[in-house]
Amino acid sequence: CKIDYQAPADLLANRIILVTGAGDGIGRAAALAYARHGATVILLGRTIAKLEKVYDEIEAAGGPQPAIFPLNFEGATLKDYQDMAQTLNTEFGRLDGILHNAGLLGRITPFEQYNPELWAQVMQVNINGPIWMTQALLPLTEASEDASIIFTSSSVGRKGRAYWGAYSVSKFATEGFMEVLADELDNQPNVRVNTLNPGATLTQMRRTAYPGEDPETLRTPEDIMPTYLWLMGPDSTGISGEKWDAQPPRS
Ligand code: NDP
Repeated sequence: CKIDYQAPADLLANRIILVTGAGDGIGRAAALAYARHGATVILLGRTIAKLEKVYDEIEAAGGPQPAIFPLNFEGATLKDYQDMAQTLNTEFGRLDGILHNAGLLGRITPFEQYNPELWAQVMQVNINGPIWMTQALLPLTEASEDASIIFTSSSVGRKGRAYWGAYSVSKFATEGFMEVLADELDNQPNVRVNTLNPGATLTQMRRTAYPGEDPETLRTPEDIMPTYLWLMGPDSTGISGEKWDAQPPRS
């Protein structure tokens, strides 16, 4: 946890960074923070109106001109990811960072009642889609001098919890995939891969999961950005295959 990390203003200058689920919640805050620290941010998500708002906010703040990439992990095919890689290659020629942040909660429900279609949908959005997108984009990260790939985990991806079903399983899979990829890229010192658990954070997803909770007790997406910046920028170069937390555990 690097909650006290003070990112220099130019931390991400000249870096091209893709953020998935950039229209809302933690992804929106990360896109704004990365742009504020100099990155050209590619805003990926399924709701274009939300991405356009983030785009406008970055422009209004004087950040580098971002790009919008509409994509829904539910329906996306291998060809979509390959086309995406081609477009980004033509536009930018490389990727210096990927924040895999888009996520779907599914339902908090006893496993005996878990709907298999919903289970498949959560696995598609949280892990299968991001895996094939990563496969298509790896050559672009390898073209970078110093690329950071961050997968978003959860505390239920490190210890299983009753009723969290597909969401918990998808986050365990995320941790596993990160380890496999980090080990494979061990001889590729310019690409690192880690997981980051944001911890309890005030977003729509958290409100859905814990409807009765007092929002005042939660950190905001902005509060947890120091670790998001540290793990994306050059101060964490060389660190790979590790599981990070964006905030200390709540007492
Ligand atoms: P939000 O629900 O606020 O945001 C999720 C983002 O993912 C939205 O921008 C959403 O798009 C996007 N998304 C969802 N489904 C798809 C899809 N099919 N295709 C493309 N984009 C999609 O959640 P958070 O900001 O809270 O969560 C961000 C990440 O952090 C997730 O991976 C989550 O699992 C993880 N996390 C969050 C915690 C918390 O306390 N908030 C705790 C632990 C982990 P749209 O806006 O269009 O719906």
